[in-house]
Amino acid sequence: MNFDPILDLYDYQVFGEFGGVNPSIEDSATFTFLKAETMTQTFHGESKGCFLYSRHWNPTTKNLATALSKIEGTEDAWITASGMSAISISLLHLCNSGDHIISSRTTYGGTYALLKNYLPKFNIEVTFVDITKHEEVEKAIRPNTKVIYTETMTNPLLEISNIPKLADIANKCNAKLVVDNTFTPLIFSPSRLGAHVTIHSLTKFINGTNDTIGGAICSTSEFINSLIDVNNGSAMLLGPTMDSLRAASILKNMHTLHLRMRQHSKNAMYLATHLQEVGIKVVYPGFDNHPQHNLMKELMNSDYGYGGMFTINLKTLKTATAAMEAMQNENVGYLAVSLGYFKTLFSSPGSSTSSEIPHDEQVVMGLTDGLIRFSVGLDSNIEHTFERIKGCLQKVGVI
Ligand SMILES: *Cc1c(COP(=O)(O)O)cnc(C)c1O
Repeated sequence: MNFDPILDLYDYQVFGEFGGVNPSIEDSATFTFLKAETMTQTFHGESKGCFLYSRHWNPTTKNLATALSKIEGTEDAWITASGMSAISISLLHLCNSGDHIISSRTTYGGTYALLKNYLPKFNIEVTFVDITKHEEVEKAIRPNTKVIYTETMTNPLLEISNIPKLADIANKCNAKLVVDNTFTPLIFSPSRLGAHVTIHSLTKFINGTNDTIGGAICSTSEFINSLIDVNNGSAMLLGPTMDSLRAASILKNMHTLHLRMRQHSKNAMYLATHLQEVGIKVVYPGFDNHPQHNLMKELMNSDYGYGGMFTINLKTLKTATAAMEAMQNENVGYLAVSLGYFKTLFSSPGSSTSSEIPHDEQVVMGLTDGLIRFSVGLDSNIEHTFERIKGCLQKVGVI
């Protein structure tokens, strides 16, 4: 596909109040009105361009929201305090008590826990499916299905969702396709491929400096306006807003996202290829042995590579743990959860980020104990990094 999601972001100009090259930071919770009548109109959503109260909109968070809508090619967006709140308010807004969600069985651990343990409190039922098997998705549809939920590249198994196909299925049963695009900003544009709502944890690649938590919801103006409706909008009433100082800092970081994504992808391809060559079992969507490699090639935007995430399988948790500790000692990166940072991060999903998934279910989905998930950093000399990793793997006896 020839869409370049960064172009519109670079065309988006907002000057600071005194002509600053960065937009001014609106450090206010509430806003004055010269006329009482304008305030009333704003409450009724009739007064465009007026700011009322920062839980609703703040000019600085709105700038960041616009930037997100530019890279996702959506009409509008809304910024949240975390990726989890973006997911939870979207789902709570789309579903009423008695409704049903179909979800990929491999998702971020927090999302899995929300779907499995929390939403049942509101009498919202969830069926987990292998999202790459479309017959399974179709079979799970019920008259009360309101949402099909997936991640473009799933965590931690790195399966690729066929967004156009899933959008067709959702459209046929009048459900909404909600897609978490956290692993693959710029690489995929889910809303352009048919998703109704695209979600991000800004905490990861988009911010890229691991100094804050944040989230975003990208969709139609109609959906965003209904989320922030003062009478019954889930965003407005549950209130997970982001502070304007943070929004300003994330907006600046977004302008290097294209360079970072290319470097993350290039480094991940290098490490994955060389680890495979020395006999390690590697899962990377950039390899033609990956089950959805061709699908990814078909759906991805050109130019940003196959992403910064890959997994290796060292068979046992004990070996995986020893390898990770050795890699941290050798300055390969950090033994830490999360991803999209400028340094390499690695963790063992089965006992950390996916530990919410019961062990027997982990086995069924292929999430084995010896799995290590890598989020590859922006290393300038990746050959040198590989030599260090190789030394660690030799030390723990796997090569
Ligand atoms: C981290 C993450 C989330 C949750 O985001 P927070 O910002 O930590 O709340 C959701 N989905 C995916 C794929 C993630 O990696």
